[in-house]
Amino acid sequence: MSPVPDKVERFAEYLKKADRIAVLTGAGISTESGIPDFRSADGLYRTMASAEIFDIELFQKHPEKFYSTIAPVWRKILNAEPNAGHRALAELEKKHRKRVMVVTQNIDSLHIRAGSGEVAEIHGSFRTLTCLECENNVSSDRFTDGLEAGRILRCPVCGGLLKPDITFYGEPLPPAPFAAAERAMWEARLLLVLGTSLVVHPAASLPRECDSGIPYVIVNKTETWFDGRCDLVFHESIGKVMSAALECF
Ligand SMILES: [Zn+2]
Repeated sequence: MSPVPDKVERFAEYLKKADRIAVLTGAGISTESGIPDFRSADGLYRTMASAEIFDIELFQKHPEKFYSTIAPVWRKILNAEPNAGHRALAELEKKHRKRVMVVTQNIDSLHIRAGSGEVAEIHGSFRTLTCLECENNVSSDRFTDGLEAGRILRCPVCGGLLKPDITFYGEPLPPAPFAAAERAMWEARLLLVLGTSLVVHPAASLPRECDSGIPYVIVNKTETWFDGRCDLVFHESIGKVMSAALECF
């Protein structure tokens, strides 16, 4: 099904008028790149036995369990490409000279790979790993073989346990990205919510930081509690809606 033209035109008008756009993204934009939603019925958590895999205490006690379970996820992320939704956000910035402040709950770095310049990864990312002993920070590119094989990764300096820089349960969110996310909400003249049903806090409360007078647009496969607050609601593919809107430019 294609997006309704009138709605798409209105969406395009919002995009044209706003010079500063805050975009809050979740799993729904990554599933269009073939990365399963962690929380959906056929998502990773189910495949992985449970969310225990992201428990920081269990990780420290049994890192082998984490690394062996995460290996297929890692391969999916490594093989995924940014899709039309990611590319449209980068295009708004590069071609149409908008300030696009992306705030993402995703850990796959696809926004950065698509070329978006301002990305706050509020749940961290897989791009880097930190040693739990000496805090040495290393690029995960150096450990691709070990990650794919599901081996425990150790610090090249001290031999301590390496942990991917994604937020585990029992850990605080990385402060700098979250502060950037709040600033994005304050400064926005348009809010886009893409592929998240806004149930995971504190991301879910971020839209409250926005000026209530600006337009809110949500694109998500299913209904959310936030739909009623939005000026435009699309229950469709993010890639399709974003591409259709940019065609009106
Ligand atoms: Zn170390």
